Amino acid sequence: MQQEQKSGKELLDQVAAVSDEHEFYTPIVKGYEKGKTKYVFVFGTVMSGLGKGIFSSSLAKLMQDKGFKVEPIKMEGYLNLDSGTLNPFRHGEVFVLDDGTETDMDLGTYERFLNKNLSKDNFMTTGQIYTAVLEKERKGEYLGRDVQIIPHVTAEIKQRLRTLAVKKAADVIFVEVGGTVGDLENSHYMEAIREIIYEEGKENICFVTLTYIINSGILGEQKSKAAQLGIKKLMELGIQPDVIACRSEHPVTEKVREKISIYSNVPMERVISMHDVKSIYQLPQLLRDAKIDEYVVAQLKIEKRVNKESMQKNKEQWKAMLAKLNTTKEVTIGITGKYTLIRDAYASVIHALQHAGMHHGVDVKIKWIETTAIEEGKTTVERELGDVDGIVVPGGFGKRGVEGKIMCLKYVREKNIPYLGLCYGFQMAVIEFARNVCNLRDAHTSEVNPKTPHLVIDILPEQKKIEGLGGNMRLGGRNVEIKSGTKAWELYSKKETARERFRHRYEVNPEYIPQLEKHGLVFSGKAPNHPIMQILELPSHKFFMGSQFHPEFTSRPLAPNPMYLGFMAACVKK
Ligand code: GLN
Repeated sequence: MQQEQKSGKELLDQVAAVSDEHEFYTPIVKGYEKGKTKYVFVFGTVMSGLGKGIFSSSLAKLMQDKGFKVEPIKMEGYLNLDSGTLNPFRHGEVFVLDDGTETDMDLGTYERFLNKNLSKDNFMTTGQIYTAVLEKERKGEYLGRDVQIIPHVTAEIKQRLRTLAVKKAADVIFVEVGGTVGDLENSHYMEAIREIIYEEGKENICFVTLTYIINSGILGEQKSKAAQLGIKKLMELGIQPDVIACRSEHPVTEKVREKISIYSNVPMERVISMHDVKSIYQLPQLLRDAKIDEYVVAQLKIEKRVNKESMQKNKEQWKAMLAKLNTTKEVTIGITGKYTLIRDAYASVIHALQHAGMHHGVDVKIKWIETTAIEEGKTTVERELGDVDGIVVPGGFGKRGVEGKIMCLKYVREKNIPYLGLCYGFQMAVIEFARNVCNLRDAHTSEVNPKTPHLVIDILPEQKKIEGLGGNMRLGGRNVEIKSGTKAWELYSKKETARERFRHRYEVNPEYIPQLEKHGLVFSGKAPNHPIMQILELPSHKFFMGSQFHPEFTSRPLAPNPMYLGFMAACVKK
């Protein structure tokens, strides 16, 4: 009976995982200490695609610089279990983590800014949450209760955040809510967050929202109404923002910021302009200039834990990297691909090229090459590749544009133009070499023509057994054994092993390896203990390399990927 006199909050602390006596339902995460881990929630209003991930990563980077252990987590609204089945044409690239999780491209942004590997714990989808809840229901874990969005689904969400906090001993967790505030798809996340304010205490939480300021061409001025309505929606859900970042093409005017401030109860100094900058890596500086990082530290009451020395060191390291952006030198890289014009589908490739470009002090211009147009005779290889300094054939699936890619490859191989082949681009290089150098006219991959007599790229039964291929893809980080004395070996600092990330189903057919090698193709990287070829190169060529893995997934601005660095160096020389 004594319990009845306790406040809700006290009860909440006491109630174990499941109770049929109380309405509170908050599964306890072992080892979780309230107040130890702080939370920054990042929302988007008005519309999606504002660069929430970039904003959140920049702020997370500033907190990391101060010596805090930062963990990001993305909450996706969709019911898919991961991003593996999503079409990059609609949704941007599928980013692969070292543990093999196929995630949204924002996880790539976090890895690049924070310069660290993330795992499945940093990614949640509604599909995962519902699956977990339904599995618990079948096991009878809800003790005869009707299973509801509140409190059971929201509890599952909170549990994931707390599990991440404990597992990674995080000081600050950056929670990015996918989609736009007001979407039905993320309403359960919003609800869970509202509960978290009560459970964790507002002093442990900071709310940041991105909004969009329309630059009206007709009126010649910035309009804030859509932003006001978006923020109002957030407040209706019981969330008072602490910081508002206004996305806009041009710096947001004082008048507009004042309007937003009045409508949101957020002081002017925390309504900031987040206008377009030359490079996304300049954003941390923009936030630092606006003192947003200092505010977050103060709001979360962690001033005493700031490591000033580390902050200074990290700031200078980043600054030195950005200094290389001021250059007048340019290189043009041709990228072939099915999703031409849709930049997001190749986000990591573009970033990796930029990292390498920044390192070598050049601006990277991209020229998209539609290989189906070459196949159809609408343009020629010479016309498309005549003015590029190097070409990349990125990852891909299916037969569209494949012959055009092979035509481009023949051209760059013969004309000594730097080439980097990524996954499908590696396989294309093998096919082209087999056809035009080894004289295996019908060489192909079983992905496109399974009936051809020369399947140089294939799914192999014995490897299917070893690697569990089959219908599934070979996914995630694996070690690559590098052959000493090769170009790859030089690039990977003469190390015998490299760790790279894979996402493929087919590979070089070992039957053809002796023949390919006899004609001069060198496989400079392979899987340890298996005959799976992973890097190829042509020693006589200026730069001709391909990898069965995706080197772009491990490239970071502070640590560009070696394959890209080598490729860029060759392009600059040209
Ligand atoms: N389609 C090829 C395969 O599955 C290449 C995959 C890719 O480029 N990611 O092996």
